[in-house]
Amino acid sequence: MFGAVVVGIGTAGWVRIRDMLAPLPGSPAEKLNVRAFISRRKLDSQQGVSQVTAEEAVSREDIQVAFICTENVLHEENVRTFLQAGKHVCVEYPMTMNYKAALELWNLAQEKGVILHEEHIELLTEDFKELKREVEGKILQEGTLHFTGGALKPGFGFPAFSGIARLTWLVELFGELSVTAATMEEDSGNNYSKMTAKLLTSDDRPLMWIEERGPGLPRAKNINFQFDSCTLTEVPPAPRGAVGLFMQDLIHFSAKLAGQVSPGDLHREKIRILHCLRLAENIQQLCKR
Ligand code: NAD
Repeated sequence: MFGAVVVGIGTAGWVRIRDMLAPLPGSPAEKLNVRAFISRRKLDSQQGVSQVTAEEAVSREDIQVAFICTENVLHEENVRTFLQAGKHVCVEYPMTMNYKAALELWNLAQEKGVILHEEHIELLTEDFKELKREVEGKILQEGTLHFTGGALKPGFGFPAFSGIARLTWLVELFGELSVTAATMEEDSGNNYSKMTAKLLTSDDRPLMWIEERGPGLPRAKNINFQFDSCTLTEVPPAPRGAVGLFMQDLIHFSAKLAGQVSPGDLHREKIRILHCLRLAENIQQLCKR
């Protein structure tokens, strides 16, 4: 069994506690036992789980795993604290707000011999799985992914990082990418931002990623993918899966803890995560010029 602490009690942290209290029967998630949570606020017990300080959590031998569910800008320091203490870490995406820090954290995890896992529930949705099936075998000519959503709370960082879920979709669908140009329009008084990144696939096909956020904007992914044989203009709708997304991620993470994921798969995931963080950083740098 692995004892776990959850850091940050927002939406994600609350769901992590819920899922560990009722793991999918017969899955490796049953090996996780939530023992405590950490919050900057002084809170009552949450779903029967009590609060501890970070100092207590890192020194407790019955806690071997940390879930980092804070806002994005605090991920890096929290991940580092727990890796340094020799604990396995599951961090909600994005792991860090820059590429170099992520690389350091992966090296630290390796040095300590622990698992470092970045949650990517957007890859686990039925919509995405269906889209991936649709795209498979087709040759892309050009494409656009335009995301819209409500304004983000403070602490979620630059859109290329807070929206890395969209970038990860594109990389999973079309392979490694490069960035050719990026711009950012902002109206901070109205909490509005629009980032536009021009990307290229490894065979020089253009892809555009737009991440647009503002109060009242509907949460939506608009796509236009032109292939040699057809054009896809919407994400194929698919019924929800029987197992929740965070639970699927928990099962994937606990399978890693149990040694059930092959070194090849672990390596491929790490390469994809670092590739996306590097692209996000390139986009941010181009927007600042
Ligand atoms: P959230 O805004 O609910 O919580 C973020 C942080 O704010 C947490 O540390 C929480 O402790 C703190 N917080 C929440 N309510 C507070 C309050 N009333 N007073 C003071 N602090 C408070 O955000 P979230 O959706 O849980 O996101 C956390 C992380 O999970 C982010 O990295 C996000 O990218 C990731 N994530 C979330 C989802 C989701 O569906 N919510 C999905 C994928 C990834």
